Amino acid sequence: MTDCIFCRIIKGEIPAKKVFEDDQLLVIEDIAPVAPLHLLLVPKKHIVNALELDPADHPLIGHVFQTAARIVRENGMAEQGFRIVNNNNAGAGQSVFHIHFHLLAGRQLNWPPG
Ligand code: 5GP
Ligand code: ZN
Repeated sequence: MTDCIFCRIIKGEIPAKKVFEDDQLLVIEDIAPVAPLHLLLVPKKHIVNALELDPADHPLIGHVFQTAARIVRENGMAEQGFRIVNNNNAGAGQSVFHIHFHLLAGRQLNWPPG
């Protein structure tokens, strides 16, 4: 989608700090981090949010979680605790309507979230 900021980052039209990329997934640093490690795992397929997933996307979501686990382990932050967050629709804080997963680590993460 031409007007989608994450599609434009995936196409290289907008710069981002890339941490990992493969054929299905892009991982970038969040532009406004809220934790010492704050990455965005962005599937390359334009899916609006979890409400639009179909069965063919299930392996992709597993790949997101495995990639997040690998990255947090490589950064030495796995044992202290980390969080994978997916906001769906504006009332839950979704501001970019291209599915993505926040990976947060490196500080105490309180529960319940706001
Ligand atoms: P949401 O609020 O939809 O769950 O998360 C969107 C995230 O994307 C926010 O944490 C925001 O800081 C981040 N973000 C928005 N625009 C950009 C951008 O142009 N580049 C990067 N790297 N992150 C962005
Ligand atoms: Zn998109």
